[in-house]
Amino acid sequence: DRYTRIYLGRTGRSRELFERARRVLPGGTTYQIRHFSPYPVYITRAKGVSVWDVDGNEYVDYWMGHGTHILGHSLDFVIKAVNEASHEGTHPGYPNTIEVEYAELLTRVVPNVDMVRFSNSGTEANMYAVRLARAYTGRRYVIKMEGGWHGGYDGLHVGVNPPFEGPESLGLPAEHIKYTLVVPFNDLNALEKTLRSFDVAAVIMEPVLGSGGCIEPQPGYLRGVRELVDRYGALLILDEVITGFRLALGGGQELFNVKADMVTLGKIVGGGYPGAGAIASRSEIMELLDQVKRPSSRSRSFHGGTFTGNRVTLSAGYALINYLSQHRALYEEFNNLWDLVKKELDKACEAHDRLCWTTGVGGMVGLHFTRERPLNARMAYDGRINEGLYQLMHLYMRTRGILYMTEHTAHLLPSMIHTGGHAKTLIGEFNNLLDEA
Ligand code: PLP
Repeated sequence: DRYTRIYLGRTGRSRELFERARRVLPGGTTYQIRHFSPYPVYITRAKGVSVWDVDGNEYVDYWMGHGTHILGHSLDFVIKAVNEASHEGTHPGYPNTIEVEYAELLTRVVPNVDMVRFSNSGTEANMYAVRLARAYTGRRYVIKMEGGWHGGYDGLHVGVNPPFEGPESLGLPAEHIKYTLVVPFNDLNALEKTLRSFDVAAVIMEPVLGSGGCIEPQPGYLRGVRELVDRYGALLILDEVITGFRLALGGGQELFNVKADMVTLGKIVGGGYPGAGAIASRSEIMELLDQVKRPSSRSRSFHGGTFTGNRVTLSAGYALINYLSQHRALYEEFNNLWDLVKKELDKACEAHDRLCWTTGVGGMVGLHFTRERPLNARMAYDGRINEGLYQLMHLYMRTRGILYMTEHTAHLLPSMIHTGGHAKTLIGEFNNLLDEA
């Protein structure tokens, strides 16, 4: 109550905006996960590690545009690249030079891929990747992980939240998910059983379970997945929408030394600009999209769209990824800092009667008020001691000038420009919170 009062006292304009917004935007937002109670703050500016709300409050941001801004908000050199590209036309809608250059760059930095197609979002990349996997294998079923979020595409919008079965949304016919099978993360037995029982085109998964808990793969798990997928003749689609360019320049494939058949990208791949996504794979698979080699539409797998390959997003993405490829040492620093922070946060949990656990790898940090350290999404949800602690933490942090998403899951996606000083403040505030909880 004390923190609610403080929050209400400093966010009057956000409250007014929320009331206005609710009349014209369902729920007052454009994406339900951006809501928090009693109302969200409305942001007017973002730069570096900070965001400012309409009441002028500054927050150190650990959401970073859904994990997009790996080098901080509003990078001057990216904005400059976009301005230059935009003056030559934001989106002529013809093939352009930047898509060629960016595809070449991506095939150099993303392991095990020869070719790329750009999409408008991570959701789209996954939707077309699934289609491509079905086209290539001639099979129907797709396996995904409990808690795995791959976007709102019908075929993958299942098994995201408890009870991890059935459609996740109204308006999603059960028929649309009848070829989608859901297994727990970090469980090779369940995966093998499912692969054995169905004609599976692809396993789609994140190397580190992202919105399902920021949960790292157990030693040997990803290698085991790779072996099983091969044994049963399926494809492995690694959804690196969060992990790509975050865990390492080459994403989870590089960090864990695991080979994907197809990689989907989003978020960071757009350099902080919207409409960002890509599918990358080896030529033999990507060739199914080739209209030159396959003139008849019925002999191809379709991918496309009006804003695909636009100059704005691709010039931003190119500028950012090119910079990162020239500063690879940043990754070691970044991972070391946040692995250390996780240890400190975990120590705080231990010192407070093991009220919580930390999970994750490098710049993906999960905090869980659970009885045990979660190994999968079910444990992260079902093992909860008290749902209210997540909301309390979110509210408390907000009043202390720290912001992240969501109020139902405590996941942090720091950038490479968050410093040891920011981390220290975070750890201090987390300890203060646990003292009171
Ligand atoms: N895949 C993962 C792992 C994600 O975290 C997300 C979004 O948060 C998506 C796919 C969907 O991407 P988008 O929101 O760009 O459609």
